[in-house]
Amino acid sequence: MTSLPWERLSDVLSAPQTVELRGTVERARSVLAGRVVWNVSSTARGGGVAEMLQSLIAYSRGAGTDARWVVIEGNPEFFTITKRLHNRLHGAEGDGGPLGDEERMVYEAVTAGNARALEDLVQPGDIAILHDPQTAGLAGPLADRGVRVIWRCHVGVDVANERAHEAWRFLLPYVRHAARFVFSRVSFAWDDLDRDQVVVIPPSIDAFSPKNQDLDASTVGAILRCAGIEAGGCDSSGSVFLRQDGTPGRVDRLADMGGSAPIDESVPVVVQVSRWDRLKDPAGVLDGFVRGIALRTNAHLLIAGPAVAAVTDDPEGLDVFEDILARRAELPEDVRARVHLVSLPMDDPAENAAMVNALQRRATVVVQKSLAEGFGLTVAEAMWKGRPVVASRVGGIQDQIRDGDTGVLVDPLDIEGFADAVVSLLEHPAEAAEMGAAARNEIRDLFLGARHLKQYVDLCEEVLAEAPAQPEPLTA
Ligand code: UDP
Repeated sequence: MTSLPWERLSDVLSAPQTVELRGTVERARSVLAGRVVWNVSSTARGGGVAEMLQSLIAYSRGAGTDARWVVIEGNPEFFTITKRLHNRLHGAEGDGGPLGDEERMVYEAVTAGNARALEDLVQPGDIAILHDPQTAGLAGPLADRGVRVIWRCHVGVDVANERAHEAWRFLLPYVRHAARFVFSRVSFAWDDLDRDQVVVIPPSIDAFSPKNQDLDASTVGAILRCAGIEAGGCDSSGSVFLRQDGTPGRVDRLADMGGSAPIDESVPVVVQVSRWDRLKDPAGVLDGFVRGIALRTNAHLLIAGPAVAAVTDDPEGLDVFEDILARRAELPEDVRARVHLVSLPMDDPAENAAMVNALQRRATVVVQKSLAEGFGLTVAEAMWKGRPVVASRVGGIQDQIRDGDTGVLVDPLDIEGFADAVVSLLEHPAEAAEMGAAARNEIRDLFLGARHLKQYVDLCEEVLAEAPAQPEPLTA
């Protein structure tokens, strides 16, 4: 596994933040000496969890701790069920399927196989951080082996409805074996969990990763041209970035433009980057553009996401992508030419990240019109790049954007309000730039990796100080 020098994190921190980071590293070394911190998730690529783990684990290793990452196995039935759980935890219906005894059997059979594989690896006294519903079933088997288990749920809903309760009921028998439950915001914590075991840790971004590292304007242009997103032809000597390990990388794979021509260098662009997921509301973004932005500005819309075949734990991606392609196809020719549905190749995750980086930097306005959102790393990424962001007032997005100051928040169902906010930023570049500068400062203060690592070390210290406890028996 890659290690990264934690010291470089201080390059973008304030002096007090740097002092705190040094303290975190010293504490981590003593608290975690002789133990492995296992992170268990369901995919090594695509989506926010994989994005964060890559960086946090590498810096933890660079700081001298034995942090590791295991990706569980699953079959399509399992991932259909866990996607259903994911949607319901967001309060959404998803595919409408049941979460009954049959689903439990599938879930438990896959979990049992993964538990067997992990039981051979872990040692009593290790710590396991299990991420999201896919890994929840491992809490019991690992706790039985003397591992201190932390279950981290990256998704949630501000006001729980029956759908969320249904997911909680399904998962509670598994997660209750964990010593702590981590949520991205306090409102996501489930009613049935003991409040003393709930910890709030918002996500963070890595300022030095290929996704977020500084790129100058000419590199941004070169990357976009080599990916075929911007017109003008590829000169691959310019489309360069630094990989996590410091070695040079180059963008030379083509993105799939979904039938549209590359954008012109000079046009304003409204950009949303996300997985092809209904909760990211690509259809709403398109609608907002067509109804309220296209006729009032000369901007283009660019919705980008991973090439659909690449994200194995997301069975709905293809449907959502095909739906949005069909909607674009129905648009009148002149508007259609200004709508770009871009599939980014995932063969090399660092190259994909560099493309996202360049797109976010190229954006005149970044949007994240999600209907529900655990945190919304794409918002933090764009803010770090000094972009003005228009995003939905949902989930963790509300913890990142102070409305009117570091970005604009809109009601997730208010298509007109969304379009008006984007148009206003397109029409007032000076205010948009000021908002972008405030956004970058906010991310530096609250959402970089150093803060996140400190919270993890606090948490590990806490669970190690306690005797491993057995959960209360479940009452019917
Ligand atoms: N992302 C990416 N390539 C893509 C689309 C998305 O690397 O083609 C990244 C995006 O930049 C962000 C993460 O996937 O880092 C998505 O995280 P977010 O919290 O926004 O949403 P999630 O996918 O976890 O629901």
